[in-house]
Amino acid sequence: MNELEDLREKINFCKICTLGLISNKAVAGEGSAHSRIIIVGEAPGANEENEGRPFVGRGGKLLRNTLNEFKVNDVYITNIVKHRPPKNRRPTQKEIVACSPYLKFEIDFIKPEVILALGRTAIEYFGIHDKLSQVNGKVFTWNGIKIVACYHPAAVLRNPHLLPDFRHAVEQAKKILEI
Ligand code: URA
Repeated sequence: MNELEDLREKINFCKICTLGLISNKAVAGEGSAHSRIIIVGEAPGANEENEGRPFVGRGGKLLRNTLNEFKVNDVYITNIVKHRPPKNRRPTQKEIVACSPYLKFEIDFIKPEVILALGRTAIEYFGIHDKLSQVNGKVFTWNGIKIVACYHPAAVLRNPHLLPDFRHAVEQAKKILEI
């Protein structure tokens, strides 16, 4: 078993916070351990919880299509918290802290050059506290890793006029990979 499979097992049995007690199924990250880019969302939704895979709903389709469009092929996709919060509410600070060793392990193990941080919860995790409307597509540095701030695909589905900004942020991440 490799380290990421080992981590998946731990996540599947995690009961550290209440989300692990009430959710039906955990959603660990997926993708190659050799990816140069990690995509980080907020938390699984209903579709993800059903399938046990990140970003498989409508937002996931938009994300995956846009990644394909910019030929960002080899990706690792994960979330800040690995269980679905009830009614898709934002995870609490306590839940984020409880779950953070898993994300830390994923980042330390994969050592990406770029992280595409999707939405407010993800950008805040990486120390970016400005509004997404101000920072979308901008590049920050966190622990030596480039962080590209990006609108969450769910926000783009709610406000389709954000689509060009969303595509722009994905393109910025791609540009870093081309350097
Ligand atoms: N939204 C997220 O933030 N993550 C998912 O995996 C799905 C929807």
